[in-house]
Amino acid sequence: MLKCKQCNKELSFREFTNGNYKKVLDVDLEKIGLFCKEHGEEVEFNLKEKRFVEEYKGNKIYSKDNKFIPYWECDYYFKSIDDVKERIDSSHIAIVDTRMFGLMNK
Ligand SMILES: [Zn+2]
Repeated sequence: MLKCKQCNKELSFREFTNGNYKKVLDVDLEKIGLFCKEHGEEVEFNLKEKRFVEEYKGNKIYSKDNKFIPYWECDYYFKSIDDVKERIDSSHIAIVDTRMFGLMNK
């Protein structure tokens, strides 16, 4: 039986069909775990706060282990925040496309 990693609440088939659960991934897609919806939102929120560096032209830039990441749940990263900004400046459309592609693969 799958359980919420935080409160140990059992996540039954009913919880899944009702969407009453949340799988939390780190900014770089590393798996954090499975939670009930409430704790999933909480864990993700706190993690986003922790990883957040700054907002640039409406894009939130995150950082983890000296990697700079242009959006949450992203499969690529940059070595400096300036590279992220350059990417945002020069190829905004490409970033959106990559994100769409990522969503379709889930
Ligand atoms: Zn929970």
